[in-house]
Amino acid sequence: MSDEYNGWKNRETWCVGLYLDNDHGTYLETQRATARGLVRAADFANEYPEVTLNVYRHVGREIEGMVQEWRDHLEEFGAPGSDVEPGLLSMFLEIGSLWRVDWDSIGVGKLDTFPVELLTAKSAGDLVRSERPLGAPLPTCPDCGLAVLMDADDWHFCDWRPVAMDVLGLGFDDV
Ligand SMILES: [Zn+2]
Repeated sequence: MSDEYNGWKNRETWCVGLYLDNDHGTYLETQRATARGLVRAADFANEYPEVTLNVYRHVGREIEGMVQEWRDHLEEFGAPGSDVEPGLLSMFLEIGSLWRVDWDSIGVGKLDTFPVELLTAKSAGDLVRSERPLGAPLPTCPDCGLAVLMDADDWHFCDWRPVAMDVLGLGFDDV
């Protein structure tokens, strides 16, 4: 079954994934939703560093909210001043209902080149000790490679935004 839809979970999910990238306008809005999802995930990690972080789910939820908002505005289509894209109409006609869409895997698809572990909070025990020719070995973050000095009850957060800007082409100015 998954082969039938290029590895996507089902027809609805495949269809949404296709439409999100199909049109320049929806692509840009999806990029913004992805950026918002990453910021939400990072906020969550800051607030609950000890809880397992599902970055894909945060991004999937933002994209789901965006698509639901599009659907809510569909009735304005054709009205003066409406900015509903004609392509969206065909998307909703083709998908039917949204409840079968697997938003987590939409998030996975959007983040395919991004190392999501950068957003995970690292405790002192997660750091690796790298040997130096002189002096004590330096605790280093396994994900961003930064040397980190912190207390046992501190958390380290990698600088993930430059990576997201670089590999995903995201912007964070209006997030
Ligand atoms: Zn790091």
